[in-house]
Amino acid sequence: MATVHHERFRLKKRIGIVGAGFSGAVIAHELAQRDYRIDIFESRSHVAGNCHSERDAETGVMVHVYGPHIFHTSNERVWEYVQRFDEFMPFVNRVKAITKGRVFSLPVNLLTINQFFGKTFNPREAEEFMASIGDQSITDPQTFEEQALRFVGRDLYEAFFKGYTTKQWGMHPSELPASILRRLPVRFNYDDNYYPSKYQGMPKNGYTYIVEKMLDHPAIKVHLNTSFERSMAADYDHLFYSGPIDTWFNHSQGRLGYRTLDFETERHVGDYQGNPVINYCDEDVPWTRISEHKHFSPWETHERSLIYKEYSRFCEETDIPYYPIRLAKEKTQLKQYVELASAERDTTFIGRLGTYRYLDMHITIAEALDVADRFLACEAGGEEM
Ligand code: UDP
Repeated sequence: MATVHHERFRLKKRIGIVGAGFSGAVIAHELAQRDYRIDIFESRSHVAGNCHSERDAETGVMVHVYGPHIFHTSNERVWEYVQRFDEFMPFVNRVKAITKGRVFSLPVNLLTINQFFGKTFNPREAEEFMASIGDQSITDPQTFEEQALRFVGRDLYEAFFKGYTTKQWGMHPSELPASILRRLPVRFNYDDNYYPSKYQGMPKNGYTYIVEKMLDHPAIKVHLNTSFERSMAADYDHLFYSGPIDTWFNHSQGRLGYRTLDFETERHVGDYQGNPVINYCDEDVPWTRISEHKHFSPWETHERSLIYKEYSRFCEETDIPYYPIRLAKEKTQLKQYVELASAERDTTFIGRLGTYRYLDMHITIAEALDVADRFLACEAGGEEM
């Protein structure tokens, strides 16, 4: 068999992929179908990057090791694609938020508004009310705070967003871009689905299972616990790099800032909080949210429970990067790195770390599919990507 494989893959170019998260795995999978020979390098001991999930030996619960990941998309191609690798079980993310000793529904919806203000508004009344409490003098919100004051007013901003955001990003919301808050809708009905996407679900066997299946191909060799050195690039005709873009260039333009997360794990008997995720919006509670992982797999039954208390802080050199900070300083640095990257021959920078953007899983997958398409089209046309 080995000889047959060798013969079959010998004629095609050699592809190196750095990072076995969704970006790298999707590209590896797509190119392997076209008989490219692929080496994928992963510095950690497992694939799937920060989406990695594994069963806890003590409780049997499937744990989202690097924090909650809920799959949602409105992209037909991506939804159809992920289902090739696992069955997606019905799941709707319904988040609760605790603020000043009371529990509310998030994102801000008609129940949140009515309970918070002690009203019984219908959708039209709520919309008028929200317009009346929003700061209409802010016509073009630039910062997170301006966006919040404009669309939800001071009381809701201070209850749900100010404390949480200060903890999550380590700075005042007036220093953050409005785009971060635009991730969250405000609804004038009782729809409490956190995501406005057309499709949503949880992989029955976890995200790591999906990535392992993507990489399970005779043309793909996975190298775990292996840091990629730039000198290794010479072995490949093309490289797809999903590590941090600034690391590739030895931080020549300075380090790009990230937030990292710490998780405090606790095990309990029974149901700890009755919901997958509860946000803690008060600034004097040190964690941002608590996730109870068995509720991410509601089709399973577990007597015991595992929870994560989540804390956010600045990402130091040896920490795992999570959220790119993307303030003015980082954007200037990023521009310089993007220029350097475009001058790199036969190397494509992909994914959250390779492009330094706040990407959800479905966007990562959609972009990786596009990159693979473009690469194959360039190859077919005899062009360089
Ligand atoms: N946010 C907040 N309060 C909440 C939830 C979110 O202030 O209870 C803000 C916070 O700044 C966060 C942003 O809204 O970074 C986007 O929230 P999302 O739930 O999309 O964050 P993620 O789940 O990606 O961490």
